[in-house]
Amino acid sequence: MMAPHGKLRYRAKCADCPWEGRQFIRYGMADGAAHDHADAHTHITFVVDQYDLRIAGSTIRPKEPRRA
Ligand SMILES: [Zn+2]
Repeated sequence: MMAPHGKLRYRAKCADCPWEGRQFIRYGMADGAAHDHADAHTHITFVVDQYDLRIAGSTIRPKEPRRA
C-alpha cells in the first residue's frame, strides 16, 4: 500500500491531558515519546498516524515496560 503524500508520520498523544508529541517518521520514536510522557505524568498515552487515527495496540500505561 502506497501513501500518496510521502511517508507515514507518527505522533504520541495523551488520553488524560491535551499533550501531543512532535511528529516522527519512525513509530518507535513516537512510542518512546509516549512512554516518556506516560512515565513523567502518570498519564495514559497512545500513538496516532498523520490522519490522527489511533494505532491499534499503541496504548501505553504509566511504568509499562518498553518494547524492545
Ligand atoms: Zn498527559
